[in-house]
Amino acid sequence: MIVRATFGATRIQTNRSRLQRPPADRRYALKLQAMASGGQGGSERTVPRIVICGGGIIGAATAHYLAEKGFAEAVTVVERHEPACAASGKAGGFLALDWNDDSPVGPMARLSYRLHEQLATQLGAERVGYRAVHTLQVIGVEKPPAGGSSTRLRGSEKLPDWVDGHVVGMSEMGDPTDTAQVHPHKLTTALLESAVTRGSRLLQGRVEGLQLEEMAGRDDTGVEAGKAGACRVTGVIVDGVVIPADVAVIAMGPWSGVAKEWLRTSAGSGNDGIGASGEAADCSASRSLLPGLTITGQKYHSVVLRPHKPVTNHMLFTGFKYASGRLVEPEVYPRPDGTVYVCGEPQTLPVPPSAAEVHVEEQLGNNIRIVAGSLASCLAQAPVETLQACYLPCAPDGLPVIGPVPQCQGAFLATGHTCWGILNAPATGLVLAEMIAEGRSSSCDVTALSPSRFAGGRQGNARP
Ligand SMILES: Cc1cc2nc3c(=O)[nH]c(=O)nc-3n(C[C@H](O)[C@H](O)[C@H](O)COP(=O)(O)OP(=O)(O)OC[C@H]3O[C@@H](n4cnc5c(N)ncnc54)[C@H](O)[C@@H]3O)c2cc1C
Repeated sequence: MIVRATFGATRIQTNRSRLQRPPADRRYALKLQAMASGGQGGSERTVPRIVICGGGIIGAATAHYLAEKGFAEAVTVVERHEPACAASGKAGGFLALDWNDDSPVGPMARLSYRLHEQLATQLGAERVGYRAVHTLQVIGVEKPPAGGSSTRLRGSEKLPDWVDGHVVGMSEMGDPTDTAQVHPHKLTTALLESAVTRGSRLLQGRVEGLQLEEMAGRDDTGVEAGKAGACRVTGVIVDGVVIPADVAVIAMGPWSGVAKEWLRTSAGSGNDGIGASGEAADCSASRSLLPGLTITGQKYHSVVLRPHKPVTNHMLFTGFKYASGRLVEPEVYPRPDGTVYVCGEPQTLPVPPSAAEVHVEEQLGNNIRIVAGSLASCLAQAPVETLQACYLPCAPDGLPVIGPVPQCQGAFLATGHTCWGILNAPATGLVLAEMIAEGRSSSCDVTALSPSRFAGGRQGNARP
């Protein structure tokens, strides 16, 4: 399914005076005989060349919804390793309708929850591991309190039988009307496949930068550039090769922060044709369009266990107290395939250079497994199918970063989804597809999540 980056590309020129302005007829060079949705006329439509950087669930969902809008053949997804090789393949996959209601993410989360239901129908519930679930908070202890007559609580009849350990408290957090789950790896690859089977390209390669050019006055497409330093995307640099592009979506999870350096334009007010090209950029003569953008990662370990007896669809958000007094909060997600996913042991650590360099510590996996086994004896001896670690992507304010980059036509960011990236991926993909295809998002107002909040006072309004 993956091809290498060799097609239709030109070698990057590192001397910025040699960055060439593409001729006008190349700017939207990919012309498709595309059927307007619902129409049979076959009228010719000019569509932008779109490169999605990152093959996690955010990039995959964006590719899927662009394909839904008839743009599949215009899309190239560039993934450094394998699709879903990072958090999108190693997450829990828990979904909640209204747990984000107190946050600016609330409306998007509600929309996305419903889109997951639709995707389960469209792609196949079994194929993406979708099902509605019960959700419980469970408080457990390594050693029951001295003198306690029973480790089970009165009123805990909603606890499923397999949760037979030292539980000292519980409450209901959700039911099948408002909580659900997917298998993140299966969903991510199914979304990508949905786009690829309709003509999108999946390319294995490392995105190293963007090729930008400054805009002066009014551009050939009639969009007013005007502002000093406004620029547009002309290409994406992959393994030293420029792939021509009119739109670049940065969806590289915790590695997206590098876009702060890629999105540079001239420091002065002149329009003398500087491009921003990753390593090639002359930073002393340019300024970042998003100086406040920093994306960090929080590391988690997880294990996938295969118990010998079936477990029910009860998701457990736990609080667990070791005999030493240490408190931990692993999350336990039984899956429809009979496995049980458990994650925990958060660590604040620098993100390694790539997903392939994430270090897995066996001891941390064991810790998670021991806690799970203390809460449910069937998990104590269950074989470990997978031990893994990954980083969730975080912006400084803890909110996702979704939308056009101010003053850079064609540049979009989609990252910072923290622990809700699986839930919010469909809505993120949908609103990005709307922004790219139609110039604005109509399904959900994501203004509060705009990258412009990191523009350092220059609130941009550049349209794609
Ligand atoms: C332990 C854990 C459990 C979680 N559980 C849940 C949950 O239950 N529910 C939920 O909603 N969310 C959950 N999340 C959060 C969710 O996993 C993330 O928010 C989401 O996966 C982020 O997706 P992404 O596509 O932005 O990033 P990623 O999955 O990190 O994907 C980014 C991709 O970009 C690629 N890339 C990076 N740099 C480059 C480059 N230069 N060139 C090309 N490609 C590049 C990477 O290789 C990677 O494949 C969990 C996260 C963790 C860590």
